[in-house]
Amino acid sequence: MPLLNENYQNLEESYLFAEIARRVSKYEEAHPDQKIIRLGIGDVTKPLTKKAIAALHEAVDMQAVSETFKGYGPEKGYEFLRNAISAYYKRNGADVDPDTIFISDGAKSDTGNITDLFAKDNVVLVPDPVYPVYVDTNIMDGRKIVYINGTAENNFLPMPDPSIKADLIYLCSPNNPTGACYDKEQLKCWIDYARSNQAVILFDAAYEAFVSQPGLPHSIYEIEGAKECAIEFCSLSKTAGFTGTRCSYTVIPKELVFTASNGVEMSLHAMWNRRHSTKFNGTPYIVQYAAAAVFTEEGMAECQANIDYYRENARIISQVLDQKKIPYTGGVNSPYIWFECPKGMESWEFFDYLLENAQVVGTPGAGFGENGKNYFRLTAFGQHESTKEAMKRFDQLF
Ligand SMILES: *Cc1c(COP(=O)(O)O)cnc(C)c1O
Repeated sequence: MPLLNENYQNLEESYLFAEIARRVSKYEEAHPDQKIIRLGIGDVTKPLTKKAIAALHEAVDMQAVSETFKGYGPEKGYEFLRNAISAYYKRNGADVDPDTIFISDGAKSDTGNITDLFAKDNVVLVPDPVYPVYVDTNIMDGRKIVYINGTAENNFLPMPDPSIKADLIYLCSPNNPTGACYDKEQLKCWIDYARSNQAVILFDAAYEAFVSQPGLPHSIYEIEGAKECAIEFCSLSKTAGFTGTRCSYTVIPKELVFTASNGVEMSLHAMWNRRHSTKFNGTPYIVQYAAAAVFTEEGMAECQANIDYYRENARIISQVLDQKKIPYTGGVNSPYIWFECPKGMESWEFFDYLLENAQVVGTPGAGFGENGKNYFRLTAFGQHESTKEAMKRFDQLF
């Protein structure tokens, strides 16, 4: 009989989206004539852009001809794509060497798999509320997690606590679920803290393309010292609607070298290269080819037009919250709007209230951690008409 990874017993039931679906279908059965509007999901609704689709078609045709056919690709991903991503970083004010970029099939997989590089007995700092992947992947490995609180007092942007000695730090900015975005000074504080503790920051920039306020960082590498302490994850999922097409990238600077217990210097870049090439055979060529089209200036302009569409939804949602004087974060640099449940309700209570009285579905904050239990997340990934209708109903509630 195999001995099992019993850490799996320590995982909490991942019931958030299942429970939402259960409550919604129960309501639908009882009220078949009512039109439910879903502003809960964290998935895009706009199709791929013209440039991405044209590139996909072109790459498919290349696979039909022996002269242009591609089999296994380079381990880190195609150079044409790594160069295109590096050029995109440069336009955003960050200097990222294409040789430090690894192409992958998702920021979810990479933020989870990165734990392979670290021993069990590290102290892991995780913000609360948080994207549940960081928590669950560390519980699977039996690592100790220390939570840092994101609250209304710190605008859901927790800052380092010098009394805590952490080894790994997860940061997500712009944040899922709160939509809050760190500025450069705040990230500099995290970098200084990480460097003084010899800690590594695992920076999830999945929503960087939604940053709209000038001066806010799209990448942690826009800030001095980041290459000495930070790994960055990013994805085309939210930027370019690749949630079903699958392509992401992870940057591991070569400066990240630490001394092992036997005195050997180990490079995280080299370790990830070994892991990636041992356990992964690459993102499909046709997808990488389409991704490269996304990172051209024209390709990104098309993505930004889609993101502008989502931003208008965020504005529609925020406008009603402003009128109601309901405190919230997000919406400006993020597709998420995170607000305090009205009338002192708890998040599941508000979920039911909104479903029953307005037929609008959102995401209860409790699903993202203790600090979310009085908060609620709405997403801007819907259509204008349904978002307007949902907020009209919301407006009439209070
Ligand atoms: C959506 C999302 C991602 C992207 O995941 P993919 O696997 O690339 O689709 C990463 N991080 C956060 C916080 C997200 O919300």
